[in-house]
Amino acid sequence: MTARTHDVAALTALTVWILAVPPGKTTVATALTAVLANQLGGIAPDIDQPTAPLWRNIPVGRYFGKIFGALVGGHRFFCHSILGVAAFAALSLLLLQFLQPIMPNIDIYFVWGAFLTGVVSHLIMDSFTKEGVPWLLPIPFKFGFPPLRRLRVTTGKGMENFVVLPLLIALTTWLCASNYTALAEIIQRNLVK
Ligand SMILES: [Zn+2]
Repeated sequence: MTARTHDVAALTALTVWILAVPPGKTTVATALTAVLANQLGGIAPDIDQPTAPLWRNIPVGRYFGKIFGALVGGHRFFCHSILGVAAFAALSLLLLQFLQPIMPNIDIYFVWGAFLTGVVSHLIMDSFTKEGVPWLLPIPFKFGFPPLRRLRVTTGKGMENFVVLPLLIALTTWLCASNYTALAEIIQRNLVK
């Protein structure tokens, strides 16, 4: 899937998570950082290819991207597995704990959860594509849904752009609209300065 679809899917997943497990009192800074972390998580697994936004946006990033991609076994390998999610979880928690002293108003565990929600949503979305996802590495089998490969989505093509993406946007809008009262209460009661 493209970065755009992944970011929308990450937001859908975040909405589901917040509705399923309503957060307690939290700061506005936490909420904003969580949305940012969620969006980064949504595209994080694709740092295993040199065309990833991270590598494109830093000087000579393409070369770093190539080296990093080779180290993690190439595109849709380690970074697209449960082991990869565990590695993202450990590294992002370390980074957040390191940054905590300069952002005392932010609940890093909430931000961490939002980031991981994005990462997991990425793997779920890629499972609908022709290539599939090696969820259970080191077992080198790429799982996909539906199991019949030719029924799956081709990344960046019409099915993704004109069916999957609009469906995700519609689903997120419907989730927000049909749970409007619950969401408004979470925002009104639980968001503090
Ligand atoms: Zn991917």
